[in-house]
Amino acid sequence: MLEISQLRAGYGAINVLWDVSLSIQKGKLTTIIGPNGAGKTTLLRAIMGLLPVEAGSIALDGVAINGTPTWKMSDARVTMIPEGRMTFRDMSVEENLIMGAFPKEHRSHMPARLAEAYAMFPRLHERRRQLAGSLSGGEAQMLAMARGLMSDPSLLIIDEPSLGLAPLVVNELFEILARLNDGRRTIILVEQNTARAVGVADHVYLMQSGKVALSQAALDVDLEHLHALYFAR
Ligand code: ATP
Repeated sequence: MLEISQLRAGYGAINVLWDVSLSIQKGKLTTIIGPNGAGKTTLLRAIMGLLPVEAGSIALDGVAINGTPTWKMSDARVTMIPEGRMTFRDMSVEENLIMGAFPKEHRSHMPARLAEAYAMFPRLHERRRQLAGSLSGGEAQMLAMARGLMSDPSLLIIDEPSLGLAPLVVNELFEILARLNDGRRTIILVEQNTARAVGVADHVYLMQSGKVALSQAALDVDLEHLHALYFAR
C-alpha cells in the first residue's frame, strides 16, 4: 500500500535518512522501532509531507506522494496521530472527536463514527463532556487515537503512543492496538516499547542511524537478536 524506496531526507544540510526502503502492506500493522535519534519521526514527517524528500520516492497505492502538501494527505485518507497527542485542551472530549471528522466529506458520517469511537473507547463516552485538558495521559492518548479514527483513514500512523504512560495504561493501549489491527485498516506504529510493539505487529522494521537495520515478519522476530541489534551502535 505504501512503498518507500531509497528515501533520503533531513533538515537542510543535515541528512538523517539514508536510502530507507520500506513496504507497508495493506490491512496490516507495521511497527517501526529503533533507539532515540534513529530517524523514525523524521521518516513519518517525510511521509506526511512535512519535510522535503532529497532523493528516493514515496508511493501510496501506486501514486507518488512526494511533495504532497500535508493538508492534502487527508484526501489520500492518511492520518497521523503525533507524539504528544496534541488534543485541543480547552475543548470537550466530544468536540475533539468531532474535529477529527470536520472536513466536509466526513460530516455526514459523523454520528456513526462517533458511535463507533465510543464503542471502542467507552471511557471517552463517560468523559465526553469533560475538557480534554483534564484527562489523564492514558485517556488523552485514547482520545488522540479515537480522533484519528474519526476520518476513517485507510492509513493510520501512530507515533510513540505509549510514551510517558503508566504500565497498566500501556497494557490497555496495546490491547486497543491489537483490536485496531483487524485487517480493515493499515497501521504504522512507531514505538520504543519493542517487545510490546512486536507483539501486536505483523511486520517489524528496526531503524538504526537513519537506515533500516532489520525487516522481518513479527512472527519470525527473535527478541534477543532484535535487542542486540537495537543497542548496537
Ligand atoms: P525519538 O525516539 O527520540 O523521537 P527518532 O528515531 O524519532 O527518535 P528523529 O526525531 O527522527 O529520531 O531524529 C533523527 C535525527 O534528526 C536526530 O539526530 C535528531 O537530532 C535530528 N533532528 C530531528 N529534528 C531535527 C530538526 N528539526 N533539525 C535538525 N535535526 C533534527
